[in-house]
Amino acid sequence: MVNLSKFTTLDPLKGMNKEDPGNVQNLVSGEWIESSQFRKDIPEPLTGEHFLNVPDTKDFSAFIKNLEACPKSGLHNPLKNVERYLMLGEVCARASELMRNKQVEEFFTRLIQRVMPKTKKQCLGEVVVTRLFLENFSGDNVRFLSRSFSNPGDHLGQESSGYRWPFGAVSVIAPFNFPLEIPALQALGALFMGNRPLVKVDSKVSVVFEQFLRLLIHCGLPSSDLDFINCRGEIMGKLIEQSKTNLRLVQFTGSKEVAEKIAVTTKGRIKIEDAGFDWKIIGPDYDPKWADYVAWQCDEDAYNASGQKCSAQSLLFIHENWEKDLIPKLRKLALKRKLEDLSIGPVLTWNNTQFLDHVNSLLKIPGARCLFGGKELANHSIPKVYGSMQPTAVEIPIKELLGKSFHNVTKEIFGPFQVIVVYEDSDLPIVKESLEQISQNLTAAIVSNDVVFQQDLLSNTINGTTYIGMKARTTGAPQNHWFGPSGDPRSAGIGTPEAIITTWSGHREIIKDVGPLDQKWVVPDIS
Ligand code: NAD
Repeated sequence: MVNLSKFTTLDPLKGMNKEDPGNVQNLVSGEWIESSQFRKDIPEPLTGEHFLNVPDTKDFSAFIKNLEACPKSGLHNPLKNVERYLMLGEVCARASELMRNKQVEEFFTRLIQRVMPKTKKQCLGEVVVTRLFLENFSGDNVRFLSRSFSNPGDHLGQESSGYRWPFGAVSVIAPFNFPLEIPALQALGALFMGNRPLVKVDSKVSVVFEQFLRLLIHCGLPSSDLDFINCRGEIMGKLIEQSKTNLRLVQFTGSKEVAEKIAVTTKGRIKIEDAGFDWKIIGPDYDPKWADYVAWQCDEDAYNASGQKCSAQSLLFIHENWEKDLIPKLRKLALKRKLEDLSIGPVLTWNNTQFLDHVNSLLKIPGARCLFGGKELANHSIPKVYGSMQPTAVEIPIKELLGKSFHNVTKEIFGPFQVIVVYEDSDLPIVKESLEQISQNLTAAIVSNDVVFQQDLLSNTINGTTYIGMKARTTGAPQNHWFGPSGDPRSAGIGTPEAIITTWSGHREIIKDVGPLDQKWVVPDIS
C-alpha cells in the first residue's frame, strides 16, 4: 500500500466538491504558496458546481525574479553540475515506480477525469504514457540526451566537439486537453536538458500538474528546480512581456492565435505545438475485411475526448469505393457514444451556440449535408459555459472544397466535429491542392496499403506526425514516437529523445586547440 497523503493534498473521489473544494497552490522558489484570490469561473464540467479553488495570480514579481536569477548556462550542462543528470534519472525511476502502483494510477486517472471529462481509458492512457516516459528516462538516459560528438581537427591538438546546451530560464505553457501528459513531458524535458522552467497550465486543469509536481518532489526533485504559476492567459502574456530577454525560450502548446502573439512578444524565442486541422485519406484499395476496423479508427480519431485533441480527425477524405460501406458504419458508431461513459462529454472551449453557428455556416455551402449529429446532448447538467454537442459530421461536395468557403471548412473546431469529403480518382488533384492549402501541418493519416498511393501523398505533404497503412490514425501522442507539427522552423516536439533534444537545447561547438607548437611555424614579426 502506498500512503497517498505523502504527496497528494486532495481526494478526487470523495473531495473536490462545493463543501470541500480542492485547493491548488503556486510553487515559487521551492515553496508552495497559499493564494488569497481564487478563480470563480471554473465550474465542474459535468455538474456546473464549484469544486476547485484555483489561484487567480496577478502579482508575478517573484516569478520574474527567478527568471532573472537563472544563469544562461542553465542549472546544469555537460560541463557544470553533471551529477544533476543522474539525480533526474533517479527521480524518474522513483516516480515511475510509484506510478505503477494501482492506487496512484487510479488517483491521477480520476483526477484527470474530474477536470477534463473523457473516458476512463483515455484518462488512463495519459497516466500510462507519462509513466512510460518516466521509465524511459530512468537511470542513464537523461545524461545520454546530452551526448556530444567530436571531429578530428586540422592538426595535432585540435578537435571540435558539438554539445547540447540549455537555454537557462524557460517557460512551458500547456493547454487544458491533456492535463498531465503535456505539461509533465515538456517540463521534464526542459529540466533534463539543464533548463529551469516556469510552468503554466490552463487553470481549468492545472490541479493535475500541481499534484504530479508534488509526486516528483516526493521522489527527490529539488522543489526549487522549477516554478509553477496558476494565472489567466492574459496575465501570463504580461509576465512574458515584462520578463524581456530573461525568459530565453517559451515552449507553447495551444491555439495558433496565442502562439503567434507570444512569438511577437518574445521576438521569436518560442517553440510551438499549436492547432491541428488534421486530415485522413481513405485510399482507393477498398477491402471489406478492413471496413469495420477503418470505421472504428475513424470514429476514435474524430470523437474521443469529444474531439478535443489537437490530433483529432478534422477532415476525412473517403474514396468512393468505401463510401457505401463506411458512412453508415461511422453513423452507427457515433450514435453509440453516450454521456454515461464519457465517450461523449463536455467541450471546454466551445459553447453550443458557437458550435452550431459553425455547422450552419457549412451547411450553406451548395450540396453540403449533415450526416449525423448537429444537436445538443439530451439529459445532461453540463453548464452552459461549456459545449454539450452530439458527435457531428458534415459532408461537403469535393467540387466546393477549394472555393471561397475553404478557410471556413478548414477551421479547427475543438469539439466533436468533422468534415467528410467523398472523392473519386479524377479528384485527386483537388485533394492534393487542399492539403497544400491547409495552414496547419500537425498529424495526418493515409489509410491504404497501396505503396504507390502512399508514396504520392507522402512526397507531396509535410505533416509532422503521419501514419500510413490500413491501420493509420491521426491521434496518438505516445512516448514512443515524435509528436509535433512540421513545416515551421519554430516547431516543437514531445515525447522522444529527439523531441526533447530539439525543443529544449541548442548546439554549442567547442574547439580545443591546445598545441603543441608546430616546429615549422614561422614566428611573425611582432616588433
Ligand atoms: P489556448 O491557446 O487558449 O491556451 C493554451 C494555454 O495558453 C493555456 O494555458 C492558456 O491559459 C494560455 N494562454 C492564453 N492566452 C495567453 C497569452 N496571451 N499568453 C500566454 N499564455 C496564454 O488553447 P486551448 O483552447 O487551451 O487549447 C486548445 C488548442 O491547443 C487547440 O488549438 C489545439 O489544437 C491546441 N493543442 C495543440 C497540441 C499540440 O501538441 N500541437 C496539443 C494540445 C492542444
